[in-house]
Amino acid sequence: MTTPYPVYGRISGPIVIIGFGSIGRGTLPLIERHFEFDYDRLTVIDPEVTYENFLNQRSINFVNEELTKENYIEILKPLLTEGEGQGFCVNLSVDTGSVDIMKLCREIGALYIDTVVEPWPGFYFKNEKGNHAARTNYALRESMLKEKRENPAGPTAVSCCGANPGMVSWFVKEALLNIAKDTGLKVEVPSRREEWAKLMQLVGVKGIHIAERDTQRATWAKPMNTFVNTWSVEGFISEGFQPAELGWGTHETWMPPNAHKHKEGCQAAIYLDQPGAMTKVHTWCPTPGPQYGFLVTHNEAISIADYYTVGEGGNPEYRPTCHYAYHPCDLAVLSFHETFGSGKVQETFEILTEDEITDGKDELGVLLFGHAKNAYWYGSRLSIEEARELAPYQNATGLQVTSAVLAGMVWALENPNEGIVETDEMDHVRCLEVQTPYLGPVEGHYTNWTPLAHRWQVFEEEIDESDPWSFKNILAS
Ligand code: NAD
Repeated sequence: MTTPYPVYGRISGPIVIIGFGSIGRGTLPLIERHFEFDYDRLTVIDPEVTYENFLNQRSINFVNEELTKENYIEILKPLLTEGEGQGFCVNLSVDTGSVDIMKLCREIGALYIDTVVEPWPGFYFKNEKGNHAARTNYALRESMLKEKRENPAGPTAVSCCGANPGMVSWFVKEALLNIAKDTGLKVEVPSRREEWAKLMQLVGVKGIHIAERDTQRATWAKPMNTFVNTWSVEGFISEGFQPAELGWGTHETWMPPNAHKHKEGCQAAIYLDQPGAMTKVHTWCPTPGPQYGFLVTHNEAISIADYYTVGEGGNPEYRPTCHYAYHPCDLAVLSFHETFGSGKVQETFEILTEDEITDGKDELGVLLFGHAKNAYWYGSRLSIEEARELAPYQNATGLQVTSAVLAGMVWALENPNEGIVETDEMDHVRCLEVQTPYLGPVEGHYTNWTPLAHRWQVFEEEIDESDPWSFKNILAS
C-alpha cells in the first residue's frame, strides 16, 4: 500500500512506547506513518487504563503497569528483545528513570529516545532543606552525562528530543547561520561543537531565550481546583516547582542575590532559590511582541549554554546566557496562580485536547540577542487548525513535540551507533527536514525590542543601562 507520507526506514525489532499520555498518543500515528515495523511487536506501557480500548481496537499490545526502579528490567528486557532485529524504546512517560532505562536499552542493544531526563518519583519534590541543587535539571543532566562518559560506545540513545528540549537546539543552529549571513559574515557551516561555539562568539550573541507563547484556548473558563495545560500537567507542575535555572553567560556582570553556581560538572548554569513558575522574565515573541515569560527550568537552557561555550568550566572565554521564557496557555497561567495562591496542587488535571481548543497557536522559537542586528526570533508558529489537519490525536503543542520525537527516531535509525547524544550534537539539517512538514510556518523575525523597552516604570527600578541584555533587566520577579 502506498501512502502520501515518506517512510524513513525499517525498525527491525520490537517497539516499546512507555507512557501513553498526550505525547505518547500523538507519537503513535507518526510512527505508523513513517516507519516500517512489525505491528505484532509494538507495545505500549502505561499504568492508566483509559486508553485500553483505543489500543485494543488497533490490536496494539498493552502492558497496564507502572514501571518502577524495581520492575523496569523485568518488564522491558523481554519486550525489547523479543524476536529478531534491533528494538526501539520510546520513553514518553513521567516518573520513570531515563538514565536507568537508557542504560538498560544500550546493554541489550536497543535504540532509545526520550524527551526529558526524567527521574524516578520523588526527585522533583524532595525536601532537603537548603539543598535545592539536588533537584535541579543540572543534576539530572549531569547524571546522564556521567553515563555518556562512562559508556561512550554502542547503540544510540537520544536524550531530551522533544520540542524543548529538542527541536529548539536545531533552531538555534539555523538561527545562528541566518544571523551570520544577514550580518555579512562569510562562514562555513560548522561541523564540530567547538566551531559552533566559536561562531556564536563571532556573531556576538549575548544570550538566547527559548521564547514561547501558547494562545490555545477552550470555549469554557477554568473551573476552580483544576489545573489546565496543553501538555503534561504533572510534568509542568514538577518543573514549575523546581528552582529556576539558566545557562549563565560571560557578558553577565550582575547575579541575583539568591543565585548559586555549581561546584561540580560543566558549570554552565546557575539556579535561583525560587520556583521557576514564580520567576517572571521580560521576553519577546512575534505575535504578542514584548511579553512576560516564566523562567521554568529546562534541560536545553543548560545544554545549549554548555554546547556554545568557548573554553570550559566556571570561567570560560565565552558562553551565552540561555533560558526558557514561557508564556503557557492562559488557562495554565491561571492554574499556577491558583496553585501558588492556595498552597496546594489542584485535585483535577486537564490537558486540552485538539477537539476542546477553539483557536490559538503555539509560537515556539529561539530569540538570539545582543548581536549586530539586536535580536532575532526563529521558530514554529503552529496553529491548532493546522495541527488538526496534519496529524490526529494532538494539539499544536503536542505536534511540535511528537514531530521532534519522529525526527530523533529517524536520526537514531540512520546513526545507530553514536552512544548517548543530546540534540545539540545531532545533524540539525536532517532533523528539521523530517520535522518541518509538521511545524506550520517556520519563520525568522528580527526585532528592535530590548528588555529596556516597554517597561512599566511607574516605580523606580534598578536597571543596567550599560547592557540592555543584562539578566538584571530581563528578570522581572
Ligand atoms: P502526560 O501526563 O499526558 O502522560 C504521561 C503518561 O505517563 C501518563 O499516561 C502516565 O500514566 C504515564 N506514566 C506515569 N508513570 C508511569 C510509569 N511509572 N511507567 C509508565 N508510564 C507512566 O504527559 P505528556 O504530555 O504525554 O508528556 C510525557 C513526557 O514528555 C513528560 O515527561 C513530559 O515532561 C515530556 N514532554 C517533553 C516535551 C519536550 O518538548 N521536550 C514537551 C512535552 C512533554
